[in-house]
Amino acid sequence: MGTVVIKFGGSSLSTTDKIKQAAKRIINIKKSGKNVVAVVSAMGKTTDQLLGLAGQITDNPAKREMDMLLATGEQVSISLLTMALTEMGEQAVSLTGWQAGIVTEKVHSNARIVDVKTDHLEEILQEGKIAVAAGFQGVTEDGEITTLGRGGSDTTAVALAAALGAERCSICTDVTGVFTSDPRYVPQARKLSSISYDEMLELANLGAGVLHPRAVEFAKNHNVSLEVRSSVEDEEGTVIEEEVSMEKNLIVRGVAFEDQITRMTVFGLSNEITGLPAIFSTLAANHIDVDIIIQSQIEGGKTNLSFSIKNKDRQEAVQVLEQEKDAIGFEHIECETGLAKVSIVGSGMVSNPGVAAKMFQVLADKNIQIKMVSTSEIKVSAVVDSDCMTEAAQSLHDAFELGVLQSAEK
Ligand code: ASP
Ligand code: MG
Repeated sequence: MGTVVIKFGGSSLSTTDKIKQAAKRIINIKKSGKNVVAVVSAMGKTTDQLLGLAGQITDNPAKREMDMLLATGEQVSISLLTMALTEMGEQAVSLTGWQAGIVTEKVHSNARIVDVKTDHLEEILQEGKIAVAAGFQGVTEDGEITTLGRGGSDTTAVALAAALGAERCSICTDVTGVFTSDPRYVPQARKLSSISYDEMLELANLGAGVLHPRAVEFAKNHNVSLEVRSSVEDEEGTVIEEEVSMEKNLIVRGVAFEDQITRMTVFGLSNEITGLPAIFSTLAANHIDVDIIIQSQIEGGKTNLSFSIKNKDRQEAVQVLEQEKDAIGFEHIECETGLAKVSIVGSGMVSNPGVAAKMFQVLADKNIQIKMVSTSEIKVSAVVDSDCMTEAAQSLHDAFELGVLQSAEK
């Protein structure tokens, strides 16, 4: 019997009525002759509320205790959903992350999954029961509770699908699929019927909130058939798969954007060969993600180094670099906040020169100043003032005609 993993996000479980609706969807899949593993997030805004509670007590909670706190959110959902399934006459068992066999590295608040022990889960499925597993949480080999980073339930679902050899992993959410851009900001955005892992990975990394980037990475590496769909409507969602052959001629598939970006500049970095690795290994050791990096030569054999990070990491980044100031050898640090990153993504870019030029022209025509740029084979990102983010996204979406069905898609 084939296995299906179906994940429900917090917004699809925000009330007990929605939990009952999710239960019905699960039962339909079960009745079609599948084993079902449901993976759930915390109800509604629970995780934010728990973060708020901690914030009323301390500005600097221990990461271990945050994990202990946040892991409770998903536990509420697994038990309530299991009760709903039972009430509807199905046999179901709720499982915490560790009971579901999710083993992670020893990192609090952003742990990676290192192993999935499926024995217990498989037993439950063999008994004909529905398994309801908590997303977002796991356990270290030493028995410490960890979480996988915000939005991490998607990763739990994909990891379980991979480990169980599931035929499909459906991510049920409050949107009907993956869009060419976020419709809340870009009203012309349109749902895509399919998208490649690589494009989805870029979009997710660049701030398209619909899927957790690590989930996409995991799906790609383990060839998990992934689908994003509505938790309530029956309409087909977006399939994420290896090669989207009929659409591969499309140059740009989506516009992603992300607010809350800081540009940090380290001034007067000594030209010692050790300077650059020292800065980035210090940041990496503190799990601070660096995005765009620009190095420029100045007089007297010194360099200025700019890089972008998320606002939330700014304080910690300054602190850890200042601590190493003498060892690294730099003069001072400055931060510019209030920035956003707008990106265009599409695997057709590789073979089409001039895409970046067109992007820069579109932004220049709108008088939007570009502060940093980065490119890869399938994306171009520009850092701009936060105030210009929406206008930039809309004009790029228009310029690359993403709102109309492309001939290659028909
Ligand atoms: N509840 C967690 C969060 O809000 C994990 C998730 O929803 O995927 O980030
Ligand atoms: Mg999510």
